Amino acid sequence: MDNKQMLMIPGPTPVPEPVLLALARHPISHRSDEYSAIMGEVNHNLKWLHQTENDVLVLTASGTGAMEAGIINFLSPGDRVLVGCNGKFGERWADLCAAFGLEVEKITAQWGKSIDTEQFRAKLAADTDKTIKAVIITHSETSTGVLNDLETLNRHVKEHGKALIIVDAVTSLGSVHLPIDRWGLDVVVSGSQKGYMTPPGLGFVSVSPKAWEAYQTAKLPRFYLDLGVYKKAAANNINPFTPPVNVVVALQVALRMMQAEGLDSIFARHQRLMKATREALKALSLPLFAADEVASPAITAVAPISVESEQIRSVMQQRFNIALAGGQDHLKGKIFRIGHLGFVSDRDILCLIAALEATLQ
Ligand code: PLP
Repeated sequence: MDNKQMLMIPGPTPVPEPVLLALARHPISHRSDEYSAIMGEVNHNLKWLHQTENDVLVLTASGTGAMEAGIINFLSPGDRVLVGCNGKFGERWADLCAAFGLEVEKITAQWGKSIDTEQFRAKLAADTDKTIKAVIITHSETSTGVLNDLETLNRHVKEHGKALIIVDAVTSLGSVHLPIDRWGLDVVVSGSQKGYMTPPGLGFVSVSPKAWEAYQTAKLPRFYLDLGVYKKAAANNINPFTPPVNVVVALQVALRMMQAEGLDSIFARHQRLMKATREALKALSLPLFAADEVASPAITAVAPISVESEQIRSVMQQRFNIALAGGQDHLKGKIFRIGHLGFVSDRDILCLIAALEATLQ
């Protein structure tokens, strides 16, 4: 029996052997020259991966912690924000903003559809007094497999001129082309367990000069996630608090592997994996939850079918040791989701599809 599980969920994602070996090292002091040299390389390579000269700050946090940092550092109680909601993680943005006393206006779309950027454009164009402080969006909506049109949305935000754009790139960074500097994205959050081929434990936040300006006057309380403290520490290639040093060492190795593969190849591989998955599912007569035009290269969701989706997941797990993700919230038990981001190859998809075909027979 092959006891190596195939982790085909949208995070945590599979981790390459050299990254696992790096994790197995004894921990080192996070106040040593050795650690600072590692952190220096990681900081440099994160900028490369994020396609930015902005600060990319490393937090000991999951993606949600990075999201929280992305709000509390740049906004004040009562600030008006527009939030795109077409899945669980868009809703999480809205809940998070509401929890911190922001005035939230949701722009919603049905789960499985993409956000209509025209609705944002109209709201932003009507805001002549410039009361909208931020536009907040989930790039790749993991709960449905939809990639929102960030490029168009960002253009509308730039026409407004005042609002910050804050992006959840948790399942898009490292799997989808996301030129932070070219587009001028202000705050972009992500997490190590997704496209980074690294275990969970680290959150990332990139911060533009315009967002740092907002930081100066933002009034929400912050302490552990005060990004100014992280920025100061990063200048000396250290972390303000004890980081999970082993995960940082693992990330160093993963980033080197990603550099060796090259950004264009990484994005092309994710496109290929997405297309292969979708075409194979269609050939198996499995309906797809998101249309081709809005499909995320990181994750594919299979729409409700007559066979119980939980039954399919259970057989895939028990018979083939392949983990698939279920639906979330009202889609629990109705859809299942396949993660194809990070350290995933053509062979993994072939194996997954063959197992799925056998499961359906
Ligand atoms: N945003 C998106 C798009 C996600 O996919 C996830 C996790 O799956 C999160 C946020 C939350 O990340 P975490 O579970 O690491 O807090």
